[in-house]
Amino acid sequence: MADKRKLLVIDDEPEIGVFVRDVALDLGYEAIAIHRPDSFEEYFSDDIDLVVLDLIMPGRDGVELLRTMAGRASTASIILISGYDIGVLHSAQKLASEQGLHVVGTLTKPIRYRELEDMLNAIVYPPKNRPHDAIELLEFPSEQELQRAINNDELEPYFQPQVNFSDNSLVGVEALIRWRHPAHGLLMPNIIIPLAEQFGLMDKLSAEVLQQAFKQVSEWMAAGLKTRVAINMAPCNFKDLNLPELIDVKIRQYGLGSDQVTLEVTETTLMQELIKSLDILTRLRMKRIKLSIDDFGTGYSSLQQLHRIPFSEMKIDKSFVMRATSDKEALAIVKMTILLGHELGMKVVAEGIENQETWDLLSDLGCDVAQGYFIAKPMPGRQLPEWVRNHLQ
Ligand code: C2E
Ligand code: MG
Ligand code: MG
Repeated sequence: MADKRKLLVIDDEPEIGVFVRDVALDLGYEAIAIHRPDSFEEYFSDDIDLVVLDLIMPGRDGVELLRTMAGRASTASIILISGYDIGVLHSAQKLASEQGLHVVGTLTKPIRYRELEDMLNAIVYPPKNRPHDAIELLEFPSEQELQRAINNDELEPYFQPQVNFSDNSLVGVEALIRWRHPAHGLLMPNIIIPLAEQFGLMDKLSAEVLQQAFKQVSEWMAAGLKTRVAINMAPCNFKDLNLPELIDVKIRQYGLGSDQVTLEVTETTLMQELIKSLDILTRLRMKRIKLSIDDFGTGYSSLQQLHRIPFSEMKIDKSFVMRATSDKEALAIVKMTILLGHELGMKVVAEGIENQETWDLLSDLGCDVAQGYFIAKPMPGRQLPEWVRNHLQ
């Protein structure tokens, strides 16, 4: 059949290659196993959907083959295997994604049938002929288009609920930008934000999100739903020392209380304008606006920042949360982050809760607030009141 998925497995231990191949054949793949890394180029082609790659092989290791794939701008999904410790897998995974490759999973030997089967079944392949976002970016949208989108209200924040672990009650929502593009459909931040940065439109975009989000919160209030909103800040927002005053004015304009607003910043954002950021953040807190440190664990010099900046909340990055039930190291990071946050008097939010198992684990660990697809995906503002009625009461 022409539409079968194609898998290529490379492992110097032939029996492992054959095992992976057989599991894939059982699942309806077209599959080839090779055990000599030197023959990789002979078998690898752009129509391969999934490459299962052993990292440690004599002669040419998996990292070299990843480099080859990156050089060909491969869009294949990749599963990495290693007999070694999970640390090696993690660093190879990171290296691969920094080269634009798409690692969908990692396995340690011995590989169990069920584990591999589950992993293969869970892969969501990108649609054919629509490779990377990066490649699409070359075709669209232009600066004028983004400018027009801002003027024509094509940009719109979606809102993702955050709930208390203790009683499932609504804590607030996070505003996440979306672009309703007339030709390309709903575009996500991974496309919008790099474009806005490239064209120097990030300031405008941030102002737009803030305005629309505050307006939405005031409309919800008028309809009897009082809640908080968290807004993501960009590095350029910290160039203007007037930021606290500007936000304060907007808060009043929409009739909100400062305690209804949280600003999310990442460690990386702060590093770019450290002194100004400190000044601005201190004054924001003096105005009783909450500050949240986003994607905690992924940036620089975290501990020093935490000591200096009056954060009220810490968000554990979803890359750790999503792995916490299956990966010992991720679990250790999650546990320590919760302890640290609490010791510093902050609320701890876990983002990326995708299933009951992760909810239960984070809840047992004493995490305060949950955000993730398991609770709800980001949604247009008008849908929130109904979601609250259906899910929380
Ligand atoms: P973030 O602030 O860490 O936001 C959380 C991201 O995780 C959102 O992605 C959200 O949709 C996603 N997410 C939430 N729960 C789950 C889950 O259970 N599973 C998975 N796989 N993902 C989940 P989104 O909307 O694509 O936004 C990506 C990033 O773009 C945000 O990460 C934030 O850094 C940035 N961003 C979004 N909107 C804005 C904005 O208005 N201004 C600025 N400066 N940055 C924004
Ligand atoms: Mg955020
Ligand atoms: Mg985050």
